[in-house]
Amino acid sequence: MTAKKRKVVFCDFDGTITNNDNIVALFKHFQPKGWDQIVLDIVSEKKSVRQGVGELFHLLPSSMREEVVERAIQQAIIRPGFKEFLAYCKDNDIEFYVTSGGIDFFVYPLLRNFNIPQDHIFCNGSDFTGEHITITWPHACKEPCENDCGMCKTTIVRQFSAEQYERIVIGDSVTDFAAAKLVDFIYARAQLIEKCEQLKLPYAPFETFHDIIQHFSEQEAVGRE
Ligand SMILES: [Mg+2]
Ligand SMILES: [Zn+2]
Repeated sequence: MTAKKRKVVFCDFDGTITNNDNIVALFKHFQPKGWDQIVLDIVSEKKSVRQGVGELFHLLPSSMREEVVERAIQQAIIRPGFKEFLAYCKDNDIEFYVTSGGIDFFVYPLLRNFNIPQDHIFCNGSDFTGEHITITWPHACKEPCENDCGMCKTTIVRQFSAEQYERIVIGDSVTDFAAAKLVDFIYARAQLIEKCEQLKLPYAPFETFHDIIQHFSEQEAVGRE
């Protein structure tokens, strides 16, 4: 009998933990000139996520800091079942990481009530000291990733060896594609479903975190048979 691998979950934030993409929602609200084309270029993979997100925030002056931060936080809705899923992970000795292409000024406040250790949350940073908002990239790509991810999910996934861990990605969109290709299983929504279908990756669709808990429990039951 082979030793059972420990499960580790890498969970996206925008459009996954929250119902919507908070960055897109912000720019839909403030509508600085040129924002929509940049979003299209990111989603269609014409522009790297790092370049596109950097350009987007650069459209906003740092003087808007307060309203940008407030807007991002107050428009977000946490997807049902998230709290229960965190409890499920804890009870079942599953490691849980937030791997987010979002920005620190909304990711940390929105997760504040969930008791996730700070070193289990990865996201981008922000700098309001210049004339325009500048996004910083404390977790940029390391070799061999050449996607120019911004927050590089594959670099984090690679720190958990496939020999020791059963690696699982939860996500919805373009920032999840590269990591999805590396892992054992994917819980997907929206655009990530199409990508999984196209690349024949092992996945299950989900709408809430309750769906994921149920799927995990069913897998456990199968494993015991
Ligand atoms: Mg997302
Ligand atoms: Zn990368």
